[in-house]
Amino acid sequence: MLSQLGAGTRDKMGTDRDLWGTGPCPCGKGRITVVRCSPDHPWGGNAWFENSIECTDCARTYTFAESEKILDNRSRLVRREDVEEREDHLRQWRAKNADILAMPAAQQILAQAQSALDQQRSVAAKYRLLSTYGLADALESTFRKRFRSSTEFIRGLGAGHLPRLMKMVGNKQPEIIAALSEAEKIWQRAQIRIPTVKTGIQGLVE
Ligand SMILES: [Zn+2]
Repeated sequence: MLSQLGAGTRDKMGTDRDLWGTGPCPCGKGRITVVRCSPDHPWGGNAWFENSIECTDCARTYTFAESEKILDNRSRLVRREDVEEREDHLRQWRAKNADILAMPAAQQILAQAQSALDQQRSVAAKYRLLSTYGLADALESTFRKRFRSSTEFIRGLGAGHLPRLMKMVGNKQPEIIAALSEAEKIWQRAQIRIPTVKTGIQGLVE
């Protein structure tokens, strides 16, 4: 417990732990505490924070998440249901992409793309074809290092590559475009920021 930490402790792993911030939890019956941890040797690297909710009710309702605005190692307090909603949107988005790839029209595009690749005699020629449509790595040397076979290359593509593949093989499928725009709408819902619950506690991002 933190009260036993006092001004700071050092554990066996060589980590300094200091009570950094503390304050009442949202319901007011318990507390939230932030402990700053840092390696106790000079070459040890960056500090990090360990956060805890010492309240059964609030621990059920809230959790900690990374900041979406400030990129440091502090966390912020968020509602669990908001986090779950985000995860749900991402799940739906992944499922939608899998459905799109499984569509007969998409399978046809992938088969055509593979045969177009197979027709290119050399890896250099495959690279030229793919990079014309923005489907290859920026550097040919990187592409050569990664490329195993046309089959494997095609298998590594996602639904998001279909618009470029359709251009490459000259086969525009409206139902794929419609399905991709539905996927984009789900993706946009997953981008809505998770609101921060303000605590005023030092060590948490507001
Ligand atoms: Zn509480």
